[in-house]
Amino acid sequence: MHTVEVGVFMPSLLTLLALAAPGLVSHALAFAPTAGAGVAPNRTEVYHMPAQLRLRHTPAWEEFTQGEGAGWLARFDEREATARRAWGPGIPLGDVDHADAVEASLRTFLSRNAGIVGVDPDLLVLRNIGYSATMDTWYVDFDRLISGAPVWGGGVTARVRGGELVLFGVSTYPSVESLPKPMFSAADAERVAQLQGPAALAEHTGLVSKLVALPWDRAGGLDVRLCWEVRSHTESPIGNWVTHVDAASGERLNTYNEISTFTGTIQGTTHTRTLDGDYTTSAFPLGKLTGADGTTQYASEAGVVTLSDSTTWTATLSSSYLTVRNDSGAEGALPVTSSSLTWTSASATQAEIDTYKFVFDVRAWAQEMAPDNGMGIDTLTAKVNVSGNCNAYYDGNLNFYDEGGGCNNTGEIADVVYHEWGHGFHYYELEAGVYDPSISEGIADTLSTLMTHDSRIGPYFYTSGGSIRDTSPDYVYPTDVTGESHQDGLIFAGAMWDLWDELNTTYGETRADSGSGWRTASLLLANGLHAGPTIPESYDEFVLADDDNNNTVDGTPHFCEILEAFGRHGLGPGGTSSVIGIDHTPIPNQPSNTPIAFDGAVVNLAPGCTEFTLADVVIHYSTDGGGTWLDAGGALSGDAFTGDLAGFPGGTIVNYYVSATALDGTEVMLPSGGDIAPYTFYVGQLEEVWCASFDDDDGGFTHELLDGRETEGADDWIWDRPTGLAGDPSDAYTGRKIWGNDLGGGNFNGEYQAGIQNRLSSPAIDVGTNTELILQYRRWLSVEDGYYDQARVLANDGEVWSNHATAENPGNEQTEDHEWMLHTLRLSRAGNPITLGWEIQSDQGMEFGGWNIDDVCLYAPAADMPDDSGDSDSNGDSAGDGPTDSADNSKITVGHSCGCASAPGVPWPAAGLFVALLATRRRQSVLRQG
Ligand SMILES: [Zn+2]
Repeated sequence: MHTVEVGVFMPSLLTLLALAAPGLVSHALAFAPTAGAGVAPNRTEVYHMPAQLRLRHTPAWEEFTQGEGAGWLARFDEREATARRAWGPGIPLGDVDHADAVEASLRTFLSRNAGIVGVDPDLLVLRNIGYSATMDTWYVDFDRLISGAPVWGGGVTARVRGGELVLFGVSTYPSVESLPKPMFSAADAERVAQLQGPAALAEHTGLVSKLVALPWDRAGGLDVRLCWEVRSHTESPIGNWVTHVDAASGERLNTYNEISTFTGTIQGTTHTRTLDGDYTTSAFPLGKLTGADGTTQYASEAGVVTLSDSTTWTATLSSSYLTVRNDSGAEGALPVTSSSLTWTSASATQAEIDTYKFVFDVRAWAQEMAPDNGMGIDTLTAKVNVSGNCNAYYDGNLNFYDEGGGCNNTGEIADVVYHEWGHGFHYYELEAGVYDPSISEGIADTLSTLMTHDSRIGPYFYTSGGSIRDTSPDYVYPTDVTGESHQDGLIFAGAMWDLWDELNTTYGETRADSGSGWRTASLLLANGLHAGPTIPESYDEFVLADDDNNNTVDGTPHFCEILEAFGRHGLGPGGTSSVIGIDHTPIPNQPSNTPIAFDGAVVNLAPGCTEFTLADVVIHYSTDGGGTWLDAGGALSGDAFTGDLAGFPGGTIVNYYVSATALDGTEVMLPSGGDIAPYTFYVGQLEEVWCASFDDDDGGFTHELLDGRETEGADDWIWDRPTGLAGDPSDAYTGRKIWGNDLGGGNFNGEYQAGIQNRLSSPAIDVGTNTELILQYRRWLSVEDGYYDQARVLANDGEVWSNHATAENPGNEQTEDHEWMLHTLRLSRAGNPITLGWEIQSDQGMEFGGWNIDDVCLYAPAADMPDDSGDSDSNGDSAGDGPTDSADNSKITVGHSCGCASAPGVPWPAAGLFVALLATRRRQSVLRQG
């Protein structure tokens, strides 16, 4: 504490404050300097070792130290050569039990050592003398008069302890023998002091003036100037003003306020983000301070306060906006002085301090992005250290649980505070719609990521350091819907994370830039929620929020990024597939030897985002079950195509798929799996042997687990209405019910289980004498590459069909139907009766939606009618039909009896329209800069 001095001057004060608040070396205090209203005009003390050592050899000091001052040391005024402070072994002063005796003894001492005083001791006038019993010390000041005026801040000072002189200081300015007479009167000086001073507009009372000799070293040299020292008082601002006016020039040299107000910034030392050991000290806005006299005031948004020392101020973690309450003890309180403005765990629990900061951080986001949102306006209470652990919630107030149960205190984790605050933000955003809990979780997580620039939610939520969620994986609607709102919210949060990424790519990552990815994503979040969308509705609302001309059809400024990002998560028209689709109605069963017309068109749902100039359309077909493939070209007319397949002989099963190629080589296929899972139809006449529609009964089908652990859902065949989960259809092909693996609902996610083999079996079907049969049924199958998981169709335990398999690991050629496919299979010499089977066998890896089966029929091929070519109805009008209804041959059982031919209740082509173009991207969690 070498800088502690009688005089207080600016550099040492700063140093002192910094030392008093370790760890806050920078910007601990933000002084607001006001011209002329600074500190008292003390000289700056500067010491240089060579000069100090030299000054020990002045005759006066040598004489003193060779006499009674043996062993004394000093710091010298390098200009005046006097001992500004001197200390050493106590020098007995005799009987000093009262003030007069002390003064007399000191005067004797000073006369004995006049050389070190520098001036005639008779020019010293006692100014102060006081005694501290606890210190047993007399404190004595003498003024030195120059031309009758005392030297300001000068003279001689001494400490007498236990009857001995232990310290003295000399600031007598021996070089100045006299000063000129004043040229201005006290009244002149008082006018100058009031009118030119920092409180010129205030009413000054109690004006008193006296002449002083002011050592003035501001101009480089040391001047001792005769000044009028003018004192006055003002109420507003509160001030006891001391002004020095040069008595020779009338210049106001300095003004200071003895009621020392200080301007500082209330701060807090918080976890930077979470409990990873990293701390930050930053300004705390709007905090309330209460004076000992009951007066209150609030810090500014920037945390700045101006306080006077006339009362003791205490800060709390409450403000005009946010009140933080400690649910497990006393509220934090910070006694504020000019050297103590920072909240630390000494003044409140860390959770209180952290929560206060984190709430204001996220409120600042809202003030910029959604200034009307009430969450940033209405008063808010945050309870911390709430009994319980591993959670937090918003119920109109914010609530954060204490540490425990393997979790850290959630009030100390910024992500959690942002998240809970985000629920309130969502609530306040609603102008219509519903407060949907699943999207609310996604909104809250998105806000957290926008604040932290990290896809991970809540690192160190767990004491192990683990985070609680991550928004970067591509969870897809509705496949990945689980029914748990936090998990399902990640579908939306993931879309927003990807949107931000897309926007960064297009518009840059620099957070502060207008139009940057961060800013645009933030504004979309702030503007897209007013209608209260659910997760699947969110795409449309965000496009609408992005629109700038009351027309969303012509695109919006960020339409392509929204389309792409939301599409990657199954939301909007880009959901689970490309925005480029082939609109083509599957060819139904055909009469024999008749040319088959086909047609269709390529549809681009995002012409402003994706180019697709149709260059070529080919129908790829196979008549040997996919062993060999032939091509038939189509004629183009703009985006439309037409063509013909040559007729096929009766009894042919045709597999086919359509591919459309753009000028740039981009290819889309329908069905999207191409030759892995093509369309099929039968050529020739069929006679119904047996059908089951599953509309009114389960067809007498049974099911069993053939292999794997007998747990709930291992044998997951169910006759019910599908729910659309895990790639399953959202409805039956006809009627309401189908047979399928895990149709969703309840605790079921729509997927078959791992490590099982189960089978659905028809009843034994009497097929009479037919030795060759055609099985047709509606299939909606999703199954992993047959290298891993197998889907089989069986007849009397003999395999008739199985899903496509790659030859070797790793296989990713899954079979994924996106519509009710007519599956046509030939059964030869299966015997009588026939039991049909549908089987799934899975490994321990990925699981898919499995089988969905509707409208199963067994037919017997009928005698061919070669001249039946004139009545082709194969141009697509009979979309969705089962066996062809194009011929009037009475042998054809159209299937009304089993419902096989009735069209589904929804517009049929919609389900098969869009074809996957872009592979799903899975990305690692990345910490974004910006
Ligand atoms: Zn939540």
